[in-house]
Amino acid sequence: MKKLVVFSLATILIAGCNSGTKKMETELKALIDTLEIKARPAEIGSALAYFNAAVTGKDEEYKKSSEFNIQLSRIYADTVIFARLKAIKESGKVKDSLLLRQLNILYNTFLGNQWNQKKMEDLINAQTKLEQRYSTFRATVDGKKVTDNEIEAFLKSSTNNKDLEKYWLASKQIGDTVGAEVIKLVKMRNEMAHSLGFTNYHDMSLRLSDQDPEKIERLFDELDSLTRNTFSTLKSDVDSVLAAKYKLRPDQLMPWHYQNRFFQEAPAIYNINLDSYYANKDVVQLAKDFYAGIGLDVTAILAKSDLYEKEGKYQHAFCTHIDRSGDVRVVCNVKNNEQWMGTTLHELGHGVYDKNIDMQLPYYLRTPAHTFTTEAIAMIFGRLSTNPYWLRDNAGISAEEADRIKQAVKNNLRLQQLVFSRWSQVMFRFERSMYANPDQDLNKLWWDLVEKYQLLKKPEGRNNADWASKIHIASYPCYYHNYQLGELLASQLQAYINTRVLKAGEYDIVSLSKNPEIGNYLLNNVFRPGAKYQWNDMIKRATGEELTAKYYAGEFLK
Ligand SMILES: [Zn+2]
Repeated sequence: MKKLVVFSLATILIAGCNSGTKKMETELKALIDTLEIKARPAEIGSALAYFNAAVTGKDEEYKKSSEFNIQLSRIYADTVIFARLKAIKESGKVKDSLLLRQLNILYNTFLGNQWNQKKMEDLINAQTKLEQRYSTFRATVDGKKVTDNEIEAFLKSSTNNKDLEKYWLASKQIGDTVGAEVIKLVKMRNEMAHSLGFTNYHDMSLRLSDQDPEKIERLFDELDSLTRNTFSTLKSDVDSVLAAKYKLRPDQLMPWHYQNRFFQEAPAIYNINLDSYYANKDVVQLAKDFYAGIGLDVTAILAKSDLYEKEGKYQHAFCTHIDRSGDVRVVCNVKNNEQWMGTTLHELGHGVYDKNIDMQLPYYLRTPAHTFTTEAIAMIFGRLSTNPYWLRDNAGISAEEADRIKQAVKNNLRLQQLVFSRWSQVMFRFERSMYANPDQDLNKLWWDLVEKYQLLKKPEGRNNADWASKIHIASYPCYYHNYQLGELLASQLQAYINTRVLKAGEYDIVSLSKNPEIGNYLLNNVFRPGAKYQWNDMIKRATGEELTAKYYAGEFLK
């Protein structure tokens, strides 16, 4: 408290005697240095506790994670520092580009924390509690606990319609358990957004992450019209294959027939069994060798990671940069199959990005340019698990086998992209509408969107909080659209690598293996700059164009 008074007096003096650029920049730099010293230990503590909580499921780690987050929110809630940041920003005097970037990032971070401290702490605690419930919840089928991996495996393999329904219903159990709490959280988030002058939390969340909500919506509208017809045609193909498989008429197919809890992935309708290529392989070793081949060593990341299933452990996957100084780790639940090959490559894609950021950059710029730019990198690599030439060069399938499955795999990847794109429409529009009005009938909203965009049929009379069975709705709010933006950028970067680095055709299927030039290009143009440039600047520098849907459409919608 005392320190702050002194600090604010000092800044007034500086501002009073000289309001020039140099003074303003000096003041800002001092302010950032002070902040870094305060925030850094809490940021490291928070990231470590989150990692440990996810891995162990232990109460005390979740508690620790919450405490660190509260500590951080207090640091960034400081009204005196915020007032200075605001004044410096509004003065327009800061010219140094690195300082300006830091100023914008910090201004948004502080703005997002200028809320009643008690309420902020309640929100953080409620979020952490809910996170733990998702992590440790296990669905039950016939009184027996089943993991998400088991449910997914069952939905993919069984042909018994009754059992499929049972497992799909089990995957929704979490929804009704947490639904009411999620709505409470949504309202708390909205209350914060309103008090900070935003329309609602969705609006605030996008704006503070440097995205214009109207532009994002227009992009989703554009993608909707780009994908609608192709998806509808492909969905008919899917339905005829699945109807034959389950011995039903296409109009009798239900959501549990699409081989995934949410129909966010392509059902296996083409005659390929990619899992068989990985069954006798060690997917972690394959990933490690692959990354080494393009000059991006992941040994140190893997050594710190937690890779396999455990009781009480978080069931999904993520990558975390603990200290912005190279302590990068991933959490996975690896099985030797195609899905986990893709996920391992994906998470390590985030990993090599974080690990290779220029550590000489100022602390607040040692992050990816945006969350969706790191998603894009993760996606470029995640897509390789189904790439025939990648399988040839990394998993030992023969050249003849690669050629034989090439067309089926290409069709599969296209279907995958369309299925995911339609699913992301549901997620984006659901969240936007939920934050605009959390009191509406959310169960109905969810199924209306699922029917409209995914062309699935709502089970007769179903009125449950199925939307709350998607963990992102609760724990990673207003984030999902970034996956779709990531796919667009992945295609854009891939086309650039194809033509400029590999001298291949824009949309050729290439194995991206054993060529350090690929790692080099990404290292110098995407990874090293960190958050030095605004995300669209970085993309323009790296590819010659701002973010565009052109290459995604060219790759998958022709
Ligand atoms: Zn990711």
